[in-house]
This record gives sequence, C-alpha cells and structure tokens, in this order.
Amino acid sequence: MIFFSTSKSSTPVSIKKATLEGLAPDGGLYVPSEVPRFSPEELSLLAEGTFNNIAFAIARKFAAAEVPLDILSKLIDDCYDFDTPLVEIGRETFVEELFHGPTLAFKDYGARFLGRMTGFFAAEDNRMITVLVATSGDTGSAVAYGFDGIPNTRVVLLYPSGKVSRLQEQQLTTAGDNVFALEVKGDFDDCQRLVKQAFVDPDLKRRLTLTSANSINISRLIPQSFYYAWASMQLALRYPGRPALFSVPSGNYGNLTAGLLAKMMGFPIGHFVAASNANDSVTRYLDCGRFEPKPTVRTMTTAMDVGNPSNFSRLLHFFDNDFRKMGEVITGIAISDDETASTIRSAYEATGYIMDPHTAVGYRALEEYRSAHEGEGFPGVVLSTAHPVKFDEAIMQAIGREVPIPEKMLGIMAKPKRATLIGNGYEELAGFLKNLDR
Ligand SMILES: *Cc1c(COP(=O)(O)O)cnc(C)c1O
Repeated sequence: MIFFSTSKSSTPVSIKKATLEGLAPDGGLYVPSEVPRFSPEELSLLAEGTFNNIAFAIARKFAAAEVPLDILSKLIDDCYDFDTPLVEIGRETFVEELFHGPTLAFKDYGARFLGRMTGFFAAEDNRMITVLVATSGDTGSAVAYGFDGIPNTRVVLLYPSGKVSRLQEQQLTTAGDNVFALEVKGDFDDCQRLVKQAFVDPDLKRRLTLTSANSINISRLIPQSFYYAWASMQLALRYPGRPALFSVPSGNYGNLTAGLLAKMMGFPIGHFVAASNANDSVTRYLDCGRFEPKPTVRTMTTAMDVGNPSNFSRLLHFFDNDFRKMGEVITGIAISDDETASTIRSAYEATGYIMDPHTAVGYRALEEYRSAHEGEGFPGVVLSTAHPVKFDEAIMQAIGREVPIPEKMLGIMAKPKRATLIGNGYEELAGFLKNLDR
C-alpha cells in the first residue's frame, strides 16, 4: 500500500514515511493510493469479531508491508485495552461512546495508534523521535497519553499558562517520563508561533528529529475507521440489510473522513450526517458547492471551532471535487449553541442520557436529518466524542446535575503536576530542546 499527497506533486511514500512525516513535502495530506475493499466473505468472517479483531483486519490492509503481523496485532491490543460501548438511547438510536480511553475523548483512538506506530518505526531505525505540539487542551492530552512510555519517542507539549482547565492541565502534565510539558507565559498563539519557529530552526534540525503528531497524520486517520466498522457490524447483526447512519460532531473533519474510509472499505454504512456548530464552512459547501472558509468563531463546542478544516482536502479528493457526489453520502447540518444547550436538556429528560455538548450537536443533527427524511429508516449512531465530565459546567447549566468523575480520571487528578514554566521568547524553548539529550 502506498500513500500519495492530495496536492499530487510529491512522490508516493510508504506508511512508515507518511507516519513519520505527517504532512507531505508539497503541503498536501497523504491518502491511500487505493482504498482496500473487504469482500463479502471477509466481512462475514468478521461478523462476530471483537473490536480488536476488526481493527486488526483493517490495519493489516494498510500496514502489512511495513509492520510484521504479530507486532501489529500486539500493537492493536495495546492501543485498545478499553471498551467502545454502543448504548441504545431510543428507538433505533445509539450513542457510540468513544470516551473510555485515558483522556476521555475520541482522540485517544488516533493518538494511541500513532504513538505506537511512530515508536515501532523509530526503533527500527534506532532513532529518537521528538514530537513537538502546541495545544489549547484536548489534542495535547491525547498525544501525551498516546506516547506515554513509548520507547524511542518523547513528547514536548506547549500549553498556555492559566488558559486550560484544571482537568486538562492534569492530563497534560502527568504522563510518563518521556512527556515534557512546557507551561508558556502567553496564549495559544504564542505556543503555536514557538513551535513553528522550532520546526524551521536549522540548528535544532541537526540535533533532533522533530515531528508534529497533528490530526492530519495518516496514522491518526486510519484507526478512527475502526469504531465505525465495529458499530456498523454490530448493527448489521441486529438490522440486516439496513446500513447504519452515523452522525459525526465535526471540526477538522478527520473523524468524518475516517468514517468515509470505513464505508469505502465495504462496511455496512449508509449515510453520514456531518454535524457542525457555527463554524459551518463545510455545511455551506454541501449546500452550494462553494468552499469559503471564514475566521473561526468561538462556541460552546470548542473542539469543533475550526473555520478552515484541514481534512476538507481529503474529502474533496475522495469525491473528485464534486459537491453533488459528496452530498449523496454526507448531509451537513449546523447547530447553534442555544440548540446544543437545549438538546443536552431535552435528551436527558427524554432518555436519561447525559451527553457532552459535542455529542449533543451530533444528536440534534441526527434528529433534524431524520425529521427531514422520514421513511429512510436507517438505524442511527451518534458518535460521542467526549465524556460529559470534560464539559461539566455546560452540563450543570443545562440539567442542574453534576457528572461524577470516572475512576480513571481520579487517578490522573491525584498525580503531581510536572511542568516547566517558560516565557514566550524563542530562546527559552530552543534551550530546553537542546538540553533534552544531556
Ligand atoms: C477533536 C474533536 C472533535 C472534532 O473532530 P474532527 O476530527 O476534528 O472533526 C469533536 N469533538 C471533540 C470532543 C473533539 O475533541
């Protein structure tokens, strides 16, 4: 399997190179040269499979040439040692809970796979890879715990001092000895500027192999298809011949792109609802065929506040730049903050289920899609991208109840914070990075 760039002007690469590079040299995003397809026989063999069976079956199609199968199988078991429950909350309506990983958000699925793949490839070359990330919270914590304790890798995270929640800060500052948190006296833009400067610093380039682990990495994308495949196979047992409809709370559209991969591979998926907040550039594209990204606006679903989604170029690639084709598979629905808050409340009153704001956007969009398409009758799955405790203030406001903190999180809350406070000038970061090997 080879991967080429959506910008089509750099040479195709192996999954190893695509994983270690992240972004293609021409600035494009890597896509598989051909999406592998599961035959009906292969699918029927997987019908009663576990999550990890299905994950392995998918991963080997992409990585078998570069990762020995016994290692890949162990890697998958090590990544997904937590559950992925499909909870029935209404008639033919399910919530797929993607928040049982270490940082209580779906980004754990991608970050853990990326961490282990990076570690494997780095060990093969006897190299040390340094992952450098600027974070405003959620991505950084998934990366910290995704690379936690992985040999041949270390992570340096920059986060803005006083601008992340206490829970997020604990997640950023308590992972293993190979994860270094830098608390920057400045804002998120300062963190991003410092990281960008480090990537172009020739002196650092001589000393360290730096990578970025951001959400466009192909080794974060592929594993996100696992949970679509798994849910669709479970529903196929229960609703034969009626492929699942997935509603996906979207920001950079990586999650949705992974769902599309699962559908193209042949898993029983009928349609997607791309649920957005006020940052609705893809929703508008699906309506009219014009992509006009706008500056990001702040909403209560902060993880979806993306004005110019990075995975949009992959979506265009898979649909040959044709918005009508895209519209046959994906319906975009934008949900306002008021609707999100009222949905947390109404869903709780109707079903007893407490959903985080991002999940509520997905649930509301699923309901709107269904009322506009009565009679289509797909069993519906809302992807729950975060545990409600991560947004406990919004939940408290909507339903007047506290969300109990899961045990795993209590463990993280009790660990001592380990962070180095630095100023927002570049010399301090450069000095820190140069001293890593001492
Ligand atoms: C990152 C994130 C999203 C958006 O996912 P994309 O793949 O960027 O579309 C949605 N919800 C939560 C909680 C997230 O952390």
